[in-house]
Parts: sequence; C-alpha cells; structure tokens
Amino acid sequence: MAQSPKISVVGLGNMGLPMAALLAHRQFDVTGFDVSSDRVALAVQENVPCTHDLASLLQDADIIIASLPNDSVVEKVFLQPDGLLARTDRRAIVIDTSTVSPGTTRHIATLMHRAGHGWLDAPVSGGAAGARDGKLTMMVGGTDADLADVRTVTDVLAARVLHVGSSGAGNVAKLVNNMLVAAHMLTAAEALRLGQAAGVQAGDLLKVINASTGRSAVSENTFPRWVLNDSFDSGFSAGLMRKDVALALSLARDVHASLPLSTEVERLWNACRKTCPDSADFTRVGSSETQPA
Ligand code: NAD
Repeated sequence: MAQSPKISVVGLGNMGLPMAALLAHRQFDVTGFDVSSDRVALAVQENVPCTHDLASLLQDADIIIASLPNDSVVEKVFLQPDGLLARTDRRAIVIDTSTVSPGTTRHIATLMHRAGHGWLDAPVSGGAAGARDGKLTMMVGGTDADLADVRTVTDVLAARVLHVGSSGAGNVAKLVNNMLVAAHMLTAAEALRLGQAAGVQAGDLLKVINASTGRSAVSENTFPRWVLNDSFDSGFSAGLMRKDVALALSLARDVHASLPLSTEVERLWNACRKTCPDSADFTRVGSSETQPA
C-alpha cells in the first residue's frame, strides 16, 4: 500500500460525509462521490473534493470507502463493468461500511479477490456523531492481510476495530446488533408507557432504569438524547432500520435460526409506517404518538 494512499469515499450521506470530512481534516488524500448534488455541495463545503466520474474514481483509488444505503446500490457501484473489476493493473482495497447482507458481501468479495483486489465488510455503529469524531465501532469481516493494509485509515474512523471473522462476518455481527437495537427501541418505549400510565414521569423512570439492570444503550443514550426531548434527529432513518431488521430475519431463515421475538419486532416496526415513515428518524418509533400494535 502506498505511503499516502489515494482514498475515495463513495456515498456522502449521514455517515459517509463525516467520515470523508474527518479524513480530509487529518490530511489524507481523499475524494468523494455521491449521486446527490446536494450531498456533493455539502462535502465540498467540508473541504472534501468531489468528482462526478465514478469510474475514474474507482480506477484511481488505493483505498475505497463505501457508505451506501443497501445491497442493490453496493452491487450497482462495485459490479459495474468499467469499474473496479475492470482494473487489474493495481490492487485496491474496499472498506465497505454499508450494512448489507453477508451473502452480498461474500459474493462481491469473491469477485474482487479474483480481480486482485481486497474487500472488507466493515459496517459501523456509533451514528453520525461517532463518524464525525472518529469514535465508531467497526466490525470487520475479511482477511488479516487486507485489514493490516488499511489500518491507518480504519484507526482514524473508529475507536474500536473488531475483526470478527472472514468475509461476511462483519455484517453478521452488525445485523445481530441492530436486531437488538430495534427490539430495545420497542421494549423501552413500552416500559416507559407502562410507568407513565401508572403515574411516574419518563425522565424519572429512565433515571431508575439507567441505574439498574434494565438499562441498555437505548435507555442510556437514545431516549435521553433524541426521544424525550422530541428532537428525533439521530441521523439514522427508520427506513434503514427496517432494512437491517429485514436483513437479520432473512439471515435467520438462511441459517435456520428460529427467532419468534425478532419476527414480532419486525411486524411491529412495519405496522407503524404511518406515524414513523421510512423517511423519519428511527428514534421516532419511541415517541408517544408512535404506538406500534
Ligand atoms: P444516507 O441515506 O444518509 O446516505 C446514503 C448516501 O448514498 C446518500 O447520500 C445517497 O445519495 C448516496 N447514494 C445512493 N446511491 C448512490 C450511488 N449509486 N452512488 C453513490 N452514492 C449513492 O445513509 P446513511 O445513514 O449515511 O447510511 C449509510 C449506510 O451506513 C447504510 O447502509 C446504513 O444502514 C449504514 N449505517 C448508518 C448509520 C447511521 O447512524 N446513519 C449507522 C451505522 C450504519
């Protein structure tokens, strides 16, 4: 890997833009790309130079960071015929921070390895604030050698880089985590609804829960920060959470794991699309107006 690698960031949304801005701020040679001209304009304001030419961006980079919405967009970007697969003269390594199915990851990783490139599934936790501050948790699937080659970059983006196995393992871990977050959002909202209906205020209930055994990151962080004050602006959409829950349950079917509670969690998330649409922040599911039934 070059001493000053050329880094491309593909997808400059709530997560990709702060990651790119952090790398630019740390003097890395970084260039961004997004299909949205609004996101490109924001990136340029944050000192991230951008290009409209995705094929050249993929052809020139040493390291490519992807932060894309779903499996089909990741496939579209990386399996395009004039893109990375067509480049066989020089090795690149992709750090895919998007949350996608482990099967998609393994499929693309196999094609990339055949073309001489590296591919790490490296989904993240910690939200837009974690991305801005380089405090993400990154869960990595792939080879030791690929990870070693990009460590100077992953260590800027993440406070914790957890290598959990071969290709696809990072996304397995991420889907397991987000399945729990989706469930915790619903159980915390229900618990607070019970306490309030019985006469104790939500803030007081959280003080008790967070000093006791019922606590979780959702009760300690998500509810005080984005639900109780009605701000609902964590930067993670309900649509992306529904995507993650659907991917987790699809994985469960693939590996024959029976998950009755998680199946109900998916049903409840889908049942509240009117009050908590895909475009809303996922924290809105905890609002008193959103009562999945
Ligand atoms: P987002 O919707 O804010 O950003 C996605 C970006 O991808 C958008 O700017 C969009 O214009 C761009 N895009 C779409 N199609 C494209 C294409 N063909 N080429 C280039 N760019 C394209 O989503 P996000 O919240 O930043 O999430 C990105 C990924 O990270 C998702 O897979 C999500 O599940 C995951 N994730 C998000 C969070 C969070 O807190 N937001 C946390 C952890 C993981």
